[in-house]
Amino acid sequence: MTAPAPSPLAFVPFVSVDAMLRLVRLLGVETCLREIAEAIEQDFRRWPVFDKTPRIAAHSAVGVIELMPTSDGELYAFKYVNGHPANTRAGLQTVTAFGVLARVDTGYPLLLAEMTLLTALRTAATSAVAARALAPAGAQVMALIGNGAQAEFQALAFRALCGIDTVRLYDTDPAATAKCARNLAGTGLTVVPCASAAAAVLGAQIITTCTADKRRATVLHDNLVGAGVHINAIGGDCPGKTELAPAILRRAAIFTEYTPQTRIEGEIQQLDPDHPVTELWQVLTGAAPGRTSAAQVTVFDGVGFAVEDFAALRWLHGRAAAAGLAQPLDLIADPDDPRDLYGMILRAG
Ligand code: NAD
Repeated sequence: MTAPAPSPLAFVPFVSVDAMLRLVRLLGVETCLREIAEAIEQDFRRWPVFDKTPRIAAHSAVGVIELMPTSDGELYAFKYVNGHPANTRAGLQTVTAFGVLARVDTGYPLLLAEMTLLTALRTAATSAVAARALAPAGAQVMALIGNGAQAEFQALAFRALCGIDTVRLYDTDPAATAKCARNLAGTGLTVVPCASAAAAVLGAQIITTCTADKRRATVLHDNLVGAGVHINAIGGDCPGKTELAPAILRRAAIFTEYTPQTRIEGEIQQLDPDHPVTELWQVLTGAAPGRTSAAQVTVFDGVGFAVEDFAALRWLHGRAAAAGLAQPLDLIADPDDPRDLYGMILRAG
């Protein structure tokens, strides 16, 4: 007996790494960043509808593996993501990810996707959305401390969304800075490699820290942060893993994604648990002020939240389908008679 043809619902659209690369090249990195930023902003504006929970983290001595779920009642998404700072020494990446978008009414997946590239895009898009609301007006120069996998995405998002025209690069590993400068050549950005964090922040109105080190590091000392600077701190995203001197946080206005998660993972783990912060969605909806003076130091304490991945997957679902780039993946067992799952095995013989 031949097995009946599986129904189309059994086949889940799959966006592979190759498909994602083709999509990004087709649309252009900056278009992807702008569109993902728009999707993130749309979802942050309807923040109260989302199910929210701090991500579920499994820690080890060398890293963390996390699950990041959320739902708006119609769609559900989760991401599997790791963070292993020592991986690059073994030729592996610090952060890799994949994720699923599903329908809430049936529970059937709508999309399975690579999310290593998508995470870099959505992280940079989120940083730029925050900076657009918080950075000083007319900012043109950004210091970029940590020139690894996320760095070019950050530089290009700040160019596309915030009008940055110069990036000043610093990494403890000069090879990472050289790689970043090489990749950004020809993008229209003026790229200035620097020999120290102190040199990188000279003349910068925005400072991005995206280093990877599983400890309480001080990548940015208090004396390096002048009045009016916006700090986009994205590398401190795990308990015991921070980048900023606590004195910076004590004199800054601090903005978070989902505060219960950021208290565990962000720079603010260094502060009292009731230290006041503002959530970014409140600023984007006008419920709370962003920057209140030109001299204020603002910090976006970005750790990455599930709603950003939800928005990015929602964007990818539409874009990959429109470009015909999703492959049908035989993922869901779908017997003719839904109660005859066992019969599928018999018929397969
Ligand atoms: P990566 O390992 O590719 O690059 C990190 C770079 O930081 C390396 O080049 C390293 O040499 C450099 N570095 C380490 N300590 C430094 C220091 N004291 N000063 C200057 N440079 C230093 O990692 P990545 O994928 O680019 O990720 C960077 C960080 O961002 C990681 O900590 C990661 O967990 C985090 N991250 C956060 C989010 C988010 O949403 N907030 C998303 C993705 C990644």
